[in-house]
Amino acid sequence: MTENKGNFTLDAAQKYLAIEPEMTTEKLSERLWTISDGKIRTIFIEAQDSVIAFDTFSTPGGARAYKKAVAKAIPNKQIKTIIYSHDHIDHCGFADDLAADAEIIADEICAKVIKIRGSQGQLLATKILKGNKNVITVDGVELTLLNPGPTHGSGNISAYFAEEKLLFSSDTILATAQYGFMPDYHFANFVKFMRGFLDLDWQTFVPGRYGLTDRAGFEKGCDFIEAMQTECQNAFAEFVPIWAYDPMYGYVTNKLSERFGDLEGFEGHVGQMAIRIVHHYLMGGWGGEDTPEPTVLLADQVTL
Ligand SMILES: [Zn+2]
Repeated sequence: MTENKGNFTLDAAQKYLAIEPEMTTEKLSERLWTISDGKIRTIFIEAQDSVIAFDTFSTPGGARAYKKAVAKAIPNKQIKTIIYSHDHIDHCGFADDLAADAEIIADEICAKVIKIRGSQGQLLATKILKGNKNVITVDGVELTLLNPGPTHGSGNISAYFAEEKLLFSSDTILATAQYGFMPDYHFANFVKFMRGFLDLDWQTFVPGRYGLTDRAGFEKGCDFIEAMQTECQNAFAEFVPIWAYDPMYGYVTNKLSERFGDLEGFEGHVGQMAIRIVHHYLMGGWGGEDTPEPTVLLADQVTL
């Protein structure tokens, strides 16, 4: 069997793409579930006659494992809707392997990026959302889908569930410091937009990776990213060689360990986070993506 290969070009990747990871599902309410392979996390919803799945996991094997876990949790109902939280392949690259005939809902910028990317297995959106807030009903379930502006990836959609007092926002704030090197984070307005979610009434936060947290954990996450941005700017003022890992690791660890050293993964991740964040100030972000007017991106170049 040949797997959908995403962006990979080598046959050697097939081995990686085929693995079906063990999934852990947790029921959060009568209709809402969260699922994780130990790294990536998402949610799915039992609707009237079907299942609404957010995202697809990182590989064809991951998508199949997701599908099996959903079938186990909600027997006799099939995934008929997939909502893309953002464009990244590691979260929504393999709808073809999850539910090839599903309706696929995405923000217009996400949809445009996916269209021109042409990644194998990443199906095109069939229902396009525009603007900051969309309240839609899918198979009897009312969904509040929010995109405050560029936070992470292209066309990042968060989901607010008033009934459960719960917010799901993928690859934005984490309950830990395990951020990787933060590719495609849009730092100009990231913390401002994320803090905006605190205007809503919720208690449980479901991130796109690792464990769940509450409001306080989410606020601490916002404070952490903001403090990283502050210290990365201070590093320029203090003439730290900002392009080099060791000096930046030492600098931010010294400045932030008292406040944030208890966050899981702090020690192992702050260095690479700092290297990425200083380049936001050094270079101005990646092209035009880090602007508060994301709709201008690809506006006339790609039609859906
Ligand atoms: Zn992402």
